[in-house]
Amino acid sequence: MHDHDVIIIGSGIAGGILGSILARNGADVLILDGAQHPRFAVGESTVPHLLARLNGLSVRYDVPEISHLQDIRTLTKEIGTSHGVKKHFGFQIHSEGAEPDFRQSVQAAIPKTLYRAGHLFRQDTDAYLFQVAVRYGATARQGFRVADVEIDDDGVTVIGQTGERLRGRYLVDAGGFRSVLADKLGLREQPTHVKHHSRSLFTHMIDVKRYDDVVDTPRRYQPPAPWYQGTMHHVFDRGWFWVIPFNNHKDSTNNLISVGLTLDERVYPKPRDKTAEQEFFEFVAKFPAVARQFEGARAAREWVSTDRMQYSSTRSTGARWCLMSHAAGFIDPLWSRGISNTVEVIDALAWRVLEALKTDDFTEERFEYVSKLERGLLDYNDDLTNCSLISFANFRLWDAIFRIWGFSSNYGAMRLTRAELQYDLTKDDQVFRDLEKAENTGFWWPDEPEMKRIWDLMVETCLKAEAGAMGYDEAADILHRELAASDLPPAALGYKDPDNQWINPSVLDLARFLRWSIKNGRPTVHDLASGLLRASLRKGIRRQKVV
Ligand SMILES: Cc1cc2nc3c(=O)[nH]c(=O)nc-3n(C[C@H](O)[C@H](O)[C@H](O)COP(=O)(O)OP(=O)(O)OC[C@H]3O[C@@H](n4cnc5c(N)ncnc54)[C@H](O)[C@@H]3O)c2cc1C
Repeated sequence: MHDHDVIIIGSGIAGGILGSILARNGADVLILDGAQHPRFAVGESTVPHLLARLNGLSVRYDVPEISHLQDIRTLTKEIGTSHGVKKHFGFQIHSEGAEPDFRQSVQAAIPKTLYRAGHLFRQDTDAYLFQVAVRYGATARQGFRVADVEIDDDGVTVIGQTGERLRGRYLVDAGGFRSVLADKLGLREQPTHVKHHSRSLFTHMIDVKRYDDVVDTPRRYQPPAPWYQGTMHHVFDRGWFWVIPFNNHKDSTNNLISVGLTLDERVYPKPRDKTAEQEFFEFVAKFPAVARQFEGARAAREWVSTDRMQYSSTRSTGARWCLMSHAAGFIDPLWSRGISNTVEVIDALAWRVLEALKTDDFTEERFEYVSKLERGLLDYNDDLTNCSLISFANFRLWDAIFRIWGFSSNYGAMRLTRAELQYDLTKDDQVFRDLEKAENTGFWWPDEPEMKRIWDLMVETCLKAEAGAMGYDEAADILHRELAASDLPPAALGYKDPDNQWINPSVLDLARFLRWSIKNGRPTVHDLASGLLRASLRKGIRRQKVV
């Protein structure tokens, strides 16, 4: 006898989205959480890949509420006025004791025509999604801490701290880092195979100044979007700060700013004789412009100071169970990949669970792809983050990595948006299933070998530079030569100009990019652009007919 079809441990963003999707599509879902909403969660910065996936999930599984998270206007209107606006993803390099060099900053501005992104105030987004799941029929138990789980051939049993036993047909552990299921099945890799090393200190603060107000930036070096209206990273050798404001647009009623410091813990071991706050401000004081930004800033909640953050699992699915992305592994907040990876895993998992419920087939093979995807997402993020931390010592090397991230991410998001538009027109789920057929599972542009070649070169070159087998300038030269020679980085978006610091395409630049892609792009680029354009036009025509 089963009490429920699917039991989800954790009602965070993962539990809320997955619970909504499964309940909306007819499954009997139970969501358990040891805590109560609203509760603090970190993970506030969004990236285009996530925004595209949220739209895709929303149409594919018919849960329109999910897409409210991808636009600051719907975040504000539907969820509340506590979220920040995100007009860019920006980085400024700093050296100890020195004023920043304005030439050593880069920014990927987010074109308004494509996205109007937000900084997610997670206690509100997570509570909202949890309620959406309950509205679609999920059963909720808050204040229910899971102490143990048992998996057998006929189902799963979840045991609460009071000894209460609940029985389901399938189990998803979306409990995050301290996963009961990972512990129970001994899934944690000890030690983890990932390359990157970092630890973090973070909190929410009040009275953090706008960076734009504490630096006297010459006109020609002013970024396209004000620093305070996006996700700001202050970067230095083997470390970086994040500043993610929620108070940065006129409709916000939230005074808080998410701040954090991430450090390579091999270079900066965690001190045992200082508080997190003391350590944070010691680092702040090293960089004059950062010190001015944080002058008078105060924490609005207790600090969190982690040990090494990286962890991974030998596998993340089995017969009748799945470890959700954050329960399976984590790399680093640098590229804001946490929620993006989470929704990618949800997309791959949800239709499989729904089919398994219908056929009563929960064999391991059915979910194998989800495990492969989770591992791929983790490992490509590890590549990127590890290369980034290596490169922070040399602006040109860092700039090359920023560009490689930028255009691989642009093409990856196009691929997802094309699928979403095509699905919207055809309602054929095969459109999404075909996305899974690409060779490099977990890579953001998984079906273009040239992109993978450049990526692998990036990894190899950075590792050589780190090992002392080549100089950092030489490493930067190799990657910039590659960017100049390859036909993948779109010139119209600014990737080909070595002196360009800002990726900030206008509507005209985007049109030029599409035209170039269709006329001159290699086959994958041509297909992406023409498919996207065709689907957009057809959708536009259909909308006009309806009106
Ligand atoms: C320092 C830091 C910064 C980050 N920044 C970003 C970012 O900017 N952008 C981004 O995309 N991602 C970021 N991430 C990653 C992001 O935080 C996660 O991907 C995301 O929060 C995962 O959501 P989740 O719902 O899976 O887990 P969580 O949000 O951790 O939710 C887990 C839930 O499970 C419950 N739970 C746990 N154990 C039990 C149990 N035994 N019984 C019952 N309930 C239980 C908890 O109470 C909690 O409510 C960051 C991560 C860190 C560590």
